[in-house]
Amino acid sequence: MKKNDRILALCKAAEAMARGDFTSDIPTGDDDIGHLGKSLKKLSSHLQKQFDKSQSLYKIMVECNFNLRLIDVLNHIYESFQNHLPYDRMSLVLFEQDQSKLKLHWVRANYNKLELSTGYSLPVTDSSVQKLLDTHDMLIIDDLSTYLEELSESNLAQAASKEGIHSCLVCPLIATGKSIGFVIFSCRKKNIYKKLHKDLSLQIASHLALIIEKTQLYKDVKLNKQLIAQKKSLEQRVTHDALTGLFNRPAIFDILHKQILRAKRGGLQIAVIMIDIDHFKAINDSSGHLTGDAVLCEIAERLTNSARSHEYIGRYGGEEFLAIVSPYDQEGALKAAERFRNAIACQAISANQMLIPVTISLGVAISTEQGTLDENLLLQKADEALYLAKHNGRNRVELAHIDNKENPTDRKNSR
Ligand code: GH3
Ligand code: MG
Ligand code: MG
Repeated sequence: MKKNDRILALCKAAEAMARGDFTSDIPTGDDDIGHLGKSLKKLSSHLQKQFDKSQSLYKIMVECNFNLRLIDVLNHIYESFQNHLPYDRMSLVLFEQDQSKLKLHWVRANYNKLELSTGYSLPVTDSSVQKLLDTHDMLIIDDLSTYLEELSESNLAQAASKEGIHSCLVCPLIATGKSIGFVIFSCRKKNIYKKLHKDLSLQIASHLALIIEKTQLYKDVKLNKQLIAQKKSLEQRVTHDALTGLFNRPAIFDILHKQILRAKRGGLQIAVIMIDIDHFKAINDSSGHLTGDAVLCEIAERLTNSARSHEYIGRYGGEEFLAIVSPYDQEGALKAAERFRNAIACQAISANQMLIPVTISLGVAISTEQGTLDENLLLQKADEALYLAKHNGRNRVELAHIDNKENPTDRKNSR
């Protein structure tokens, strides 16, 4: 090749490198131009390595954003950095809760016999670990056996030494200013790690710390969601009737109690409506208990659907329900009761391939004055009105008359 052509080829190679293309042919030789070619080749391979390195780091960032599985990121790091960082073994140790214990979270090596498996945890007794914690600095161990003799009682270091490890590069993982653990690169040869390896391992460690923090946050959020869901389901079970899904007896009593306090504070009226299915025993007797259950559920659903948002319905007993409507005057309460009655009577209930006409009777009691704002009195009066509704032919609403001077009797335990 002519001199000019060789120089042109070197120029082209340099321009290609500038564009990120490291594949072009670079002519070399023993004269000056040839030496320039050799240097350019070295530069090219160095740049290629740097490019690969930043690509690998970029990939960790991508994993960090799209893949929250820490284990995948660790495997990715292990597989991607062999060309940039010498290691036979890579491990991740993380602190447990406080910084008094370390746990081997993940380990991988290019040999089979690992002394410790993941999950192994040990107290932090090692003074050099303590120093790393304080300084957030990196530790390079050139000869693990000497290090063990002089400084460390660490089981982790002893295990690595038994595996034939000699050099270690220990990088602290710092998340929000606090050490959360270490990523450790180790090699079977002595005196491997130099200053030049620090930079890359620092970058890897900072990515890892970010992912671990993110994973932890994700876990916390997940755990929080699970706890909230569990709490909700527990509350649901404690306050709701298992068969119909309505408020159970203690819960509807509790609501009544709170509504009465609210009504007292606001000078409002409150109405309770006692509801009982008509001739329900006959349904059980003729169609069976399971059909009876299905009818109960359908009635509960119809009552719920016809209730306004501020009206509460609970299962008071076997086939009795209690509705609390507030604030309501006499006319409003009677209208609500009529709405409930109609919701059941308007259409026969379909249960177990049968059409069963069902009706309910309702007794309404309204607190007319502050003195009648008493749960026992209201329940007793609603019950009396219900009895009247049954007596007067069922499938009807009756209103109780409350005399302000009446004394409530304790009926809570009488039912
Ligand atoms: P009335 O019109 O006078 O209220 O007559 P009734 O037959 O509805 O009243 P009674 O008190 O004689 O019978 C109520 C029946 O309700 C008896 C009981 O077995 C039934 N029952 C109570 N709880 C349940 C339940 O959870 N499932 C079913 N299937 N039946 C129930
Ligand atoms: Mg009854
Ligand atoms: Mg009944």
